[in-house]
Amino acid sequence: MEGLNRAPDERVRAPSWAIAAAAALGAVAFLWAGWKAVSGSDAMLGEFAFAIAAGVAGFFVGRRDVTVIHRAIRRALEGHLEPAQALGRWRHGRAVADYNTLARRLSSLLDEMERSQLWTIAERNRVDAILQSLPCVMLVVDDDLFVASSNDRAEGLFGRGGTELRASNLFDLLELDDEGRELLREAFLYEQPLSNREIVLGSGESRRHFTMSVTFFKCALEAGGPCSVIMLQDVDDYRRLQQITYQSEKFVAMGRLAGGVAHELNTPLGTILGYAQLLNAGGASEAKRAQYGQAIYSEAKRCAQIIDNLLAYARRDRCVPETCDINAVIGIVIDTICNCRGNRYNVPIDVDLCECPPVLGGSGQLDIVLVNIVMNALQATSGSAREPRVLVASRVEGASAIVTVTDNGPGIAAGLHNRIFEPFFTTKGGNKGTGLGLAISQSIAVSVGGALHCDTTFRGGARFVLKLPLAQESSLGGTGT
Ligand code: ADP
Repeated sequence: MEGLNRAPDERVRAPSWAIAAAAALGAVAFLWAGWKAVSGSDAMLGEFAFAIAAGVAGFFVGRRDVTVIHRAIRRALEGHLEPAQALGRWRHGRAVADYNTLARRLSSLLDEMERSQLWTIAERNRVDAILQSLPCVMLVVDDDLFVASSNDRAEGLFGRGGTELRASNLFDLLELDDEGRELLREAFLYEQPLSNREIVLGSGESRRHFTMSVTFFKCALEAGGPCSVIMLQDVDDYRRLQQITYQSEKFVAMGRLAGGVAHELNTPLGTILGYAQLLNAGGASEAKRAQYGQAIYSEAKRCAQIIDNLLAYARRDRCVPETCDINAVIGIVIDTICNCRGNRYNVPIDVDLCECPPVLGGSGQLDIVLVNIVMNALQATSGSAREPRVLVASRVEGASAIVTVTDNGPGIAAGLHNRIFEPFFTTKGGNKGTGLGLAISQSIAVSVGGALHCDTTFRGGARFVLKLPLAQESSLGGTGT
């Protein structure tokens, strides 16, 4: 019915010869039958003739309907779908009425089809515009792995026109290295979608990094395998920029570290140099010389401590995934502190430990973390609190062990919660702090997949929270300590 033009007001006229013939025959039959009846010569024959005449007239009226419908059908085939109507005062029969109903329904169906067609075209244009404006290469691939359609960027990347691209096999077109080929092969074999997987396209000078995403969809009922959409995003420039940024960040960090180390070592070295000069000058009493010697010794020890801390910081990346019993480490750390380094603070340490499965991290590493946090707590409380107290607690939360070290000291000033984790940040005057303890502890916690932070919501002192992944929840095998 393509090209149908509908003009409902332009009615088809019934054939006038059929009407005229039917009317004439009807009239003759009627007159003859009437004459016979009036003359009384043959009443039976008159009735018979009347019936014949009526039948002939009915036949022509019926034929008139068929002719009208036939005409209308011919007009419809020529492209004009319109209702059929008899000419003049003759009323058309049921067949014409039914045909007209059919024509009306067909007409509204065609209207709807036309609207759908226009909508489909508009949608196709919209989708086409979206695909063309995509900032990446797009290929739609048939179930036989041949390109079915593509966007302009694909033509640009592969240097082929749309028609040529459509004749290309995906694997031949992409020129993947072995790794990428295997990745794509497996994706198609198991219909496994890919999302932003990095691949390398081309070789030599034209070698570039891309991310590839593959989505599968059913293209047609009779199709054997699925069709797919391949998206390729060129990330070569981004990677290069990332590398440059990474390098420059490393240089900045190195510069900061060097500056910090220089600053930290300069102070004790200056003191050592001063006392060494005094010793060298001679003339000092025995007691003074002993005092100078002691000062040189303690400052040299401080230098060694700074260097030890730096080495611990540098070694953190080489940690193997060990596991340990964190409650046992807490016990050892508290014993050591109470019996040795921390006993001069005279601050009681309470413990509240819950049963805890092994955690990731070697006891040697976590020992450093806990000593740093607990020593800080002791130092903070000893000088300020009326009844100084430190509490070390452990508990299990989901897939992690949580260790908290809480004290009732002055707490962390607002705005310093993040800064205290920066290397060389210290508020401890008189060469008492290096500012490396928390930085090192945090980097150790992160290196085992955990975290260390200061609870900003805690009031009445300071609370440090060490989060460590439970070994059983992790896929890493531990060596146990
Ligand atoms: P250092 O102890 O050598 O200063 P850290 O990195 O261990 O270096 O600590 C950095 C800073 O964090 C400390 O100088 C101190 O200001 C603050 N800090 C750490 N722990 C506490 C605490 N429990 N209470 C108050 N301040 C703390």
